[in-house]
Amino acid sequence: VLLDGVGTEGQERLLAASVLVVGAGGLGSGCLPYLAAAGFGRITIVDGDRVEESNLNRQVLHRECDLGRPKAESAAERVSALYPEASVTARIERVDAGNALAVLSGHDVAVDCTDTFAAKFLLNDAAWLAGVPLVHAGVVGYAGQATTVLRGKGPCLRCLFPERPLDGEGPLSTRDGILGAAAGFFGALQAAEAVKAVTGAGTLLCGRLLVADLSAGTFRELEAERDRACPLCGESPRIAPPLRAEDYL
Ligand SMILES: [Zn+2]
Repeated sequence: VLLDGVGTEGQERLLAASVLVVGAGGLGSGCLPYLAAAGFGRITIVDGDRVEESNLNRQVLHRECDLGRPKAESAAERVSALYPEASVTARIERVDAGNALAVLSGHDVAVDCTDTFAAKFLLNDAAWLAGVPLVHAGVVGYAGQATTVLRGKGPCLRCLFPERPLDGEGPLSTRDGILGAAAGFFGALQAAEAVKAVTGAGTLLCGRLLVADLSAGTFRELEAERDRACPLCGESPRIAPPLRAEDYL
């Protein structure tokens, strides 16, 4: 690959790197093919759900013949078929407070393709504690947001959202529909962030939240700094291992 900022050295780094994708739904469908195409050596897909008919309009990695199968397995098989040289592992389980640190372990970068704020905050905390760069994104309707959390380099999700939005009531409620193209757009953006995190190419969305509304065709960038009072990355942190399930309900 002849790409500015990646080159032979970057390609070797990607080949030696392991990326974790949490969630094999809409965002996962958007980023997984591009992670494999970029040449990541190892890809782990973790998802505890099964493919449902209502998923197919946006979770484009899954097909009608995959209905009822574990999403992690269906996605891993499809990515392997597209890119046989990629080493893809499926973990059929839900990431929770009890296993998050273990699931992240051994990965060079993690991509948050989940669809609830509870899961996103859990990944934020676990990735930060594990020192694994985390590429966050969330989509609802035609809109979404993305940022990359790097320990020691910028704010975490809790700095950006001191009050965790409630699932079902927040701006990224899964109760609302999602345009497949919006999930694909943000998933592809996450793949680009993961490539940059591993190769050092370009400038990461660290300390910046990209907010895009594909309905209006508008793109905004909000700058954010670390919050000294942040319970995770602030001066007096109270979040530490072991993570507790009751913090992520
Ligand atoms: Zn923070």
